[in-house]
Amino acid sequence: IIEAREVVLSFGQTPALRGANVAVDAGEIIAIMGPSGSGKSTLLHCLAGILVPDSGEIHFDGSRVDTRTETERSTLRRDHFGFVFQFGQLVPELTAEENVALPLLLAGTRRNDALREARLWFERLGLDGLERRRSGELSGGQAQRVALARGLVARPKILFADEPTGSLDTLTGEQVMELLVAAAREQGTTVVIVTHEARVAASADRHIMVRDGKVTSLVPDRVPS
Ligand code: ATP
Ligand code: MG
Repeated sequence: IIEAREVVLSFGQTPALRGANVAVDAGEIIAIMGPSGSGKSTLLHCLAGILVPDSGEIHFDGSRVDTRTETERSTLRRDHFGFVFQFGQLVPELTAEENVALPLLLAGTRRNDALREARLWFERLGLDGLERRRSGELSGGQAQRVALARGLVARPKILFADEPTGSLDTLTGEQVMELLVAAAREQGTTVVIVTHEARVAASADRHIMVRDGKVTSLVPDRVPS
């Protein structure tokens, strides 16, 4: 469903990706692992059409993404992609349910319909009763589940997650990951997830390693932590 071919990208003098290749199948949950600074987030941002490679190609659903304009790429992201980051990045002024409804509102759904759809996620993710809280009134794990609901509410084809459990303790992180995997499988969402944690990677269908800006085909015996 999405593919990076020989992607090269530098930030000034710093090479972040040096010929990265990866192809993700529809419905697959793939974990991107590797040392800090190896290029994992940069690869995710390239796949998601947030960053444009210096050279190489990004293909989504059989057509090229990196040659599109910023406006076209942002429309693509809005219509087909969902995002969850390490720190939920909820809008503090909005309630939890408004945060979840946001992608639907941006896509033009009427407010009442968007909020109704958003509320369905609260029970599913064990967030019953927290609909009207602001993000400052949620625990870390609750905020990440709200962010997860927001990432999935518009039923994206692909969910991009960059260390979605990185700010949580192990147990809470595992619970959030379990919910992520269950919800993604239920609605057939493809998931590209960057993680340091072996247990998170273990619930993926496949994992790849990024080292020095390249995807290594080397599959270790055990998932490194
Ligand atoms: P981590 O596990 O710490 O999140 P990462 O594998 O996600 O690391 P990237 O964020 O992709 O690594 O960074 C790859 C390289 O590019 C690093 O050397 C980093 O310092 C550099 N880099 C990333 N973003 C920027 C930026 N906005 N400006 C300059 N350099 C950057
Ligand atoms: Mg990163």
